[in-house]
Amino acid sequence: MKALLDSAKHLQDKQTKLRRDFHHFAEAGWTEVRTASIIAKHLIEMGYEVKMGREVIAADDRMGLPSQEELDKHYQRAMAQGAIPEYAEKLRDGFTGVVAILRNGAGPIIGMRFDIDAVEMNEPQGNERRPGREGFASVNPSAMHSCGHDGHATIGLGVAELLMEYRDHFSGTIKLVFQQAEEGVRGAKSIVGSGILDDVQYMLGSHIGNGAPVGTFTPGQDGMLATSKLDAIFTGKAAHAGGNPDGGKNALLAAATAVMNLYAIPRHKFGATRINVGRLQAGTGRNVIPDRALMSLETRGETSALNQHMYDYAMRILKTSAEMHDCGLETKSMGAAQGGISNRALMARVAEIAKNLGCFHTIATETGKVGGSEDYTYMMERVEQNGGQAIFMGLGAKLGGGGSASASAVEGGAHTIDFDFDESCMPLGSAIFTAIALELAKK
Ligand SMILES: [Zn+2]
Repeated sequence: MKALLDSAKHLQDKQTKLRRDFHHFAEAGWTEVRTASIIAKHLIEMGYEVKMGREVIAADDRMGLPSQEELDKHYQRAMAQGAIPEYAEKLRDGFTGVVAILRNGAGPIIGMRFDIDAVEMNEPQGNERRPGREGFASVNPSAMHSCGHDGHATIGLGVAELLMEYRDHFSGTIKLVFQQAEEGVRGAKSIVGSGILDDVQYMLGSHIGNGAPVGTFTPGQDGMLATSKLDAIFTGKAAHAGGNPDGGKNALLAAATAVMNLYAIPRHKFGATRINVGRLQAGTGRNVIPDRALMSLETRGETSALNQHMYDYAMRILKTSAEMHDCGLETKSMGAAQGGISNRALMARVAEIAKNLGCFHTIATETGKVGGSEDYTYMMERVEQNGGQAIFMGLGAKLGGGGSASASAVEGGAHTIDFDFDESCMPLGSAIFTAIALELAKK
């Protein structure tokens, strides 16, 4: 374990450089052509069997895909910013996932997931933040690594390197999943849909978090809310509001009827549920009966069943509201995640492994709680359905938390413009994933 930790710590400079490169050229979900192609290149150079694009993504299970025009535009940008042409070709048009496989003798099959996409927001370039000051703030509009997935991708490549170095110490198969489009919970389902994880017995995932300093480790987290994201488009008929009001079909009215009733869905006795209508756009002008309304909404539930209840109820309201005002309705699924509970037996083993690794000063004894949603839950669910065990770990990464000398004072929560993290969390992340694999697939 000591040797492994030393090997991991030697990765620090390389990992910092790599993370800052991913950060500088941040790419949002389904457009991560540059990021994924560089990941693929590293993995192939290390000697992995690498599958990518359509080999690991079920086209029909993709959700919330940008338009073809957007995909083309971002592909061109990726090429101009140094994407590896050979792999970019396989990743383009919304197929930006990469899976590396190491078949290393008989033994358990272990899956690990690292998400790679940025959040759709602009990153400020100013000197008051470290990324601006040290020249690695995102140059791409509407793409900022404000959730730390640049760190996740880098941790994953570190794991790949360590597993190769320590391959004589274990016997089994490892599948490293570099997942596209986690933001908006749009990508994981398509990876699961490809069947690439169907034989996996242990599934590991994690998120870095800047609520706790480097050296803090949570073996398992729960509380990921199952969710469905959808767009509803109401279509009516325009007419003169004064001269022919009864000749129109009011899409705005249908949508407004739906909004009021969506919020009136009763709570559920089995647990927490949520509903939100985050956007409503309708109509063209004051004196015209509105012929179109676009609504973006989401449902959530503490479990997949609770979310399903909310989703079914919401769909019924959308349909009947459209019908009430004689309008048409089209709904599009824009993203989804399941509920997820970390496996207690695996958590206990992993806590022990973390302790033996010797780099974590605080190992949580309680299960962590994730407030939002995570589409990694699709992977957890698939592995559990097949009799396997899955956990979602947490890695402390708070800047100024005593982990790194270069710590900056400026740091905000995930999905804020002040987000940043302590880069010394990355070797520890790579070390713990590797240590778990070595233990689970011990010779
Ligand atoms: Zn995230």
